[in-house]
Amino acid sequence: MPASSSNEPADAPSGFGTRAVHAGQQPDPSTGAVMTPIYQSSTYAQAAPGEHQGYEYSRVSNPTRTALEGNLAALEGAEHGIAFSSGVAGIDAIVKSLRPGDHIVATDDLYGGTYRLLEEVFEPLDIHTSFVDMSDPDAVEAAFTDDTQLLWVETPTNPLMRVVDIEALSERAHAHDITVAVDNTFATPYLQQPLDHGADMVLHSATKYLGGHSDLILGAVCTNSDEWAEKLRFQIKSTGAAPGPMDCFLALRGTKTLHLRMEQHCSSARRLAQMLNAHEKVGLVRYPGLPSHPGHALAQKQMSDYGGMISFELDDDDMDKALAILDAVEVFTLAESLGGVESLIEHPASMTHASIPAKERRKIGLTDSLIRLSVGVESFDDLQDDLDRALRQV
Ligand SMILES: *Cc1c(COP(=O)(O)O)cnc(C)c1O
Repeated sequence: MPASSSNEPADAPSGFGTRAVHAGQQPDPSTGAVMTPIYQSSTYAQAAPGEHQGYEYSRVSNPTRTALEGNLAALEGAEHGIAFSSGVAGIDAIVKSLRPGDHIVATDDLYGGTYRLLEEVFEPLDIHTSFVDMSDPDAVEAAFTDDTQLLWVETPTNPLMRVVDIEALSERAHAHDITVAVDNTFATPYLQQPLDHGADMVLHSATKYLGGHSDLILGAVCTNSDEWAEKLRFQIKSTGAAPGPMDCFLALRGTKTLHLRMEQHCSSARRLAQMLNAHEKVGLVRYPGLPSHPGHALAQKQMSDYGGMISFELDDDDMDKALAILDAVEVFTLAESLGGVESLIEHPASMTHASIPAKERRKIGLTDSLIRLSVGVESFDDLQDDLDRALRQV
């Protein structure tokens, strides 16, 4: 498993499921072990100074990580996959590759940790971000300045589930020589492959659907750009944002069933969204699979299904009632995060998005009763009954 051939060409194995199970991996050459071993080693023996088998030190590269990187690249149809110690470490590495004075245009409705990183870490370092509603490509283009270097897209957005047109925005950004990065954590490559729609980089929190079992923290960037791949590997080597081999192994085990899990996440989420949409206690339901969703047609074009995330408001937008529902559910677990086999429920205004100031939250429509669901793979009837009972109780 030489380090140089880390990422197999994306077109080698064909179907998604085949790539999910096999890409980046081969039986271990020394033992025949079918599963990629956890190479729990920091360093590698050299035959003579500088004479090694592709690995020198595990901050730079590690065979378990190499296998995962090849797998993730193949799933996104990318030339390069680069794994990080977390999703935000991947975002950090991308932004750190910019220079003081550079400007970023980012989705105004995005992962709370991304907002915190851009506002509280990079703003003081003279890297500035404008947050804009990306459902209007003209508004995005109007936010570009001479210093804009990066367009940061999240779609579907978190937690408002808006759908952003990757292709339209990539065209506009590229006309201004701006790099386009898409946080594909919610959709996963099974439902959406941003590089096919013109994006330059894809960011993943593999902590979520790719890992799929809520048992690891890991991030990844996939890209066809040799230049960006080199910059990001340089960042990992220099700043130490490398994932450990055990986490890489767990992520690899997760991606093998990504296609199976996503089918179930999508089918249960679609049915739950319909149930909520018809429920008397519920106000607006935000799920791109509902024909009433403003981004439905775009989601149909850009995604192969609508994912496992749903947000909804109560009919009277009462925050206390929202909190009472979180307390009343039994199958759903009250927790941050998403994308695991277990169903989670949370309250963005006081949990995941509390780092966004209340004024900003109100501006984008993140209301006080908004509840976010990560629909797991439990039996559908149990999920439906649980929510229905909790809603009736308040
Ligand atoms: C969780 C998440 C991240 C951050 O990933 P970590 O692995 O927690 O660092 C980034 N973007 C989105 C959309 C996420 O859900």
